[in-house]
Amino acid sequence: MGRGRLPVVYLPKVDERLSSWAARMAPFYAMTVSEFVAALGLQGRDVFDLEWRLSEGQGALIAARTGLSPEAVQAMTFRELGSAARMMIAWKNRFPCPHCPEDLHRKTASLPWRFYCPVHGVEFRDATGETLSDRFGTDCFKQLEGHAESGAAHLDAWARGAGQGDLGVPEVLQVLTARHRRASPPNVCEQPQMSLKDRRDYHDFLTTPIIRQALTVVVPEYDQVAPVLAKPVRPGLHALAQGSLLQCFALTVGIGRIIEDPVKWAISVMLVSDAEGQGRVRQVISLWPLSLRRSISARFWRAERDESARQIAEKAARQRQSHKYRYRIS
Ligand SMILES: [Zn+2]
Repeated sequence: MGRGRLPVVYLPKVDERLSSWAARMAPFYAMTVSEFVAALGLQGRDVFDLEWRLSEGQGALIAARTGLSPEAVQAMTFRELGSAARMMIAWKNRFPCPHCPEDLHRKTASLPWRFYCPVHGVEFRDATGETLSDRFGTDCFKQLEGHAESGAAHLDAWARGAGQGDLGVPEVLQVLTARHRRASPPNVCEQPQMSLKDRRDYHDFLTTPIIRQALTVVVPEYDQVAPVLAKPVRPGLHALAQGSLLQCFALTVGIGRIIEDPVKWAISVMLVSDAEGQGRVRQVISLWPLSLRRSISARFWRAERDESARQIAEKAARQRQSHKYRYRIS
């Protein structure tokens, strides 16, 4: 093939990324992707590096070889994202759309906080073909979506490197993924109904300690529907970068909720933490802005006092109840 214009060039699809377009083009010329990249005049360049940042010169080279406009070429890159967000970009679509061709990979579908196909408007599926509305139930999913939208807006601003107000995405994720309680085996609600024999057979499962994270406090809906062994998420930003569809959605909802009311959620998490876990939560909150930390301290001791008063009252009520009961049967 000479250095002129390629005879056949596919038009990039809506929101298609460069690596996807190159992987569709290469087989037409019976080439590998790297051979095709070389044929574009960019020998030895990695297509994933190119789609992250394409210099003006490289973009012009591809435009000249393909007849695509330089804008159309640049639109296939992630140039609108800041460097912190690169770890969030998957190599291919994270979660499939049932209507998109399998070999088409869109920029939107590489990010972990997108839950709808930008072209077909339908929910992405997980590896088993299940949607989030299947998993949560339609009503519950609808209620969570509002929080997911504010979480996603915050994540978008962070990914673009724009100012995000007081509280940054990494600082929120550190709280969501903090181990607020000691790891513990599946509790009764988390265990499937089992016969005595099954319980013996599944002894290992029933005694496996599960990591307990603040995400389950901020998004109890996730705690209820997530399979117990797949409930823990990775720490910090990795939770999103490497999460399942369900985990990424729960994290996005959690980010939305915390951004909407950081003080309330920090206190809710601390109130149900054990002593060691509370230390860990306090440590990650110490990275939050001072004004928020002040409000949290001011409200936390009151919340803790109210909580212990409530527990004392509850205990007294229980005792009265049992006295009455004992009196009646004697
Ligand atoms: Zn689609």
